[in-house]
Amino acid sequence: LRTWKRQCHYLTSYNLTPDFQLDTKSILAAVDNHTKVIWVCSPNNPSGSSIKREAIITLLEEFNGIVVVDEAYIDFCPEKTMATALNQYPNLIITQTFSKAWGLANLRIGIAFASKEIIEIFNKVKPPYNINGFSQQQALQALENNDDKLRMVAEINENREQLAAALRKLDLIEHVHPSESNMLLCKVTDADNVYKLLVEKRIIVRNRSKVILCEGCLRFTVGTQSENKTLIEALELLS
Ligand SMILES: *Cc1c(COP(=O)(O)O)cnc(C)c1O
Repeated sequence: LRTWKRQCHYLTSYNLTPDFQLDTKSILAAVDNHTKVIWVCSPNNPSGSSIKREAIITLLEEFNGIVVVDEAYIDFCPEKTMATALNQYPNLIITQTFSKAWGLANLRIGIAFASKEIIEIFNKVKPPYNINGFSQQQALQALENNDDKLRMVAEINENREQLAAALRKLDLIEHVHPSESNMLLCKVTDADNVYKLLVEKRIIVRNRSKVILCEGCLRFTVGTQSENKTLIEALELLS
């Protein structure tokens, strides 16, 4: 979560609660009249879980500025989108991307949804920096093949639950955080050492052990059945 202060000269990050939710009371207390934007990631990275709708609504109603909800991982839990609140809240901006569930990070295409007033301002500055024509064509084609994305999402969501269950059985996994996206944040005994040993086996995960609220945690990206099996077998040998 970030708030921009003093016309973007200054960025403040505000910690989530230990269960990766917004403490709206203290966030709103920290806001001053220089605060322009509050930025919320939902589902969040690296926790993988989404922020409660009521908390985002509280910010939209009580903060006199723009609330951006970064929904980069929303395709994995489309029912959690804040897009349904757009008609009610002219200060809401939702961003999504082709980089995650769509598997098209190299297109460099993101999407913003907001009120007409905000989109009109975006359109004023867009022309010289618009998305290139080739990427636009590829994105349109991807949208026509929405079923392919839905299939990939269903597969990853299913694999995630299997991987989470397998991880929970391992002695060195102390906790698997609930996830609604393509990653599992886990508290791991001796995380730095496990990270190093996995690298030696050519398995690259994200070491988040020094990040606030993620102390001792590694982040596993959900893979194919066979990739997940390779990970579990490697962790079993370390347990
Ligand atoms: C990946 C990601 C994005 C978007 O990435 P782009 O490739 O620039 O579209 C935005 N927010 C979060 C939290 C992400 O993980």
